[in-house]
Amino acid sequence: MRDIVLLGSTGSIGTQTLEVIAGHPDAFRVVGLSAGGGNLDLLVDQANTWHPDVVAVPTPAAAAALDGRLPSSTAVWAGPDASQRLAGLPCDVVVNAITGAAGLEPTLAALAAGTTLALANKESLVIGGELVTAAAAPGQIVAVDSEHSAFAQALRAGRAEEVRRLILTASGGPFRGRTRAELTEVTPEQALAHPTWNMGRIITINSATLINKGLELLEAGLLYGVDLDAIQVVVHPTSDVHSMVEFCDGSTIAQCSPPDMKLPIALALNWPDRLPGVTRGFDWSRGIDWRFEPLDDEAFPAVELARRCGHAGGTAPAVYNAANEICVDAFCDGRIGFLAIVDTVTAVVDEHLSEPADAVLSVDAVLAADAWGRARAAELIAAGA
Ligand code: NDP
Repeated sequence: MRDIVLLGSTGSIGTQTLEVIAGHPDAFRVVGLSAGGGNLDLLVDQANTWHPDVVAVPTPAAAAALDGRLPSSTAVWAGPDASQRLAGLPCDVVVNAITGAAGLEPTLAALAAGTTLALANKESLVIGGELVTAAAAPGQIVAVDSEHSAFAQALRAGRAEEVRRLILTASGGPFRGRTRAELTEVTPEQALAHPTWNMGRIITINSATLINKGLELLEAGLLYGVDLDAIQVVVHPTSDVHSMVEFCDGSTIAQCSPPDMKLPIALALNWPDRLPGVTRGFDWSRGIDWRFEPLDDEAFPAVELARRCGHAGGTAPAVYNAANEICVDAFCDGRIGFLAIVDTVTAVVDEHLSEPADAVLSVDAVLAADAWGRARAAELIAAGA
């Protein structure tokens, strides 16, 4: 029986994590839940189903709204550091399914506590960079992202020194095949209609711009110690092949399954062992057509921008992520067009890279770069850039 703390329990990954746990009640016990306070009714339902020891929310107002609605055995922790404190609770696995940069301190807290970290919140790894990798014992971070779970599974087929490159698959999002000019008029509604995955708002927009693939490129380099230039993004529209590892002899090992996040979630919860019956496999009695195509870097420059940030290191990835989060909000509110998302992120990153880098990466430096990236993106948006 593994004790699980789940951060971001009301989101897409959070709810699917609880579905996996519900299917294996003898394997897991939920000891802590946290959420942002945007869906308190769901958080109350979850707490009354799972009877965690603690529920954590970021504001006293959210805590007050929970008053009298939770099991008597459940404590409520409130405050901006509540998820971070919860991540330090003694348990077997912390699942970090918070969205965005808010996941950084909880990630570091789980690692400091020596707990296995099932990481969906790629942003915390990407912006924290070596701060996060240095805090992690070998194998302490287990990927929830389907692509990175695929890498972990395929890497079992050989030794680290035998790896030639990683092939990171991308669905291409809803605008795959469009030229840059054809992306001018796309709407938030169109961008939110992802062809293969049903996800939270930010990651769905990030999938349409390919910013998500840029974050995943950086995530893969950090998780598996592979040079960024040895990671190639390949478009695979149906998201059946979740990623591949090419070994030194030319052999390529792919991990494939019908797209369903419950599979990588279950493997992360129970790592390194598989749980039975998580999803169905493919129906091979029907024809299956898998297609792969190169990424159009002109229409979707976000991946190469991320690679540039990764090579620059330091706080550049934090700026990439922060500026993007502001641009996603502005796009969803109708204040900027689709192309302006990555154009604005590029302008903010270029400005950041023109300044001298921080000598030593620290949490404060990352948070300062995050704040600067947000403020600068907001200024450029307000100025109509
Ligand atoms: P959602 O937006 O669906 O959910 C985010 C969760 O985080 C919600 O429970 C939200 O609470 C909570 N939250 C937000 N801010 C805070 C905070 N300050 N403290 C505590 N909780 C907070 O996102 P997803 O589930 O889609 O994504 C979560 C992470 O997983 C992201 O990093 C994403 O990139 C990654 N990921 C997601 C995949 C997917 O298929 N969805 C696939 C692979 C990775 P509330 O809504 O109640 O306010």
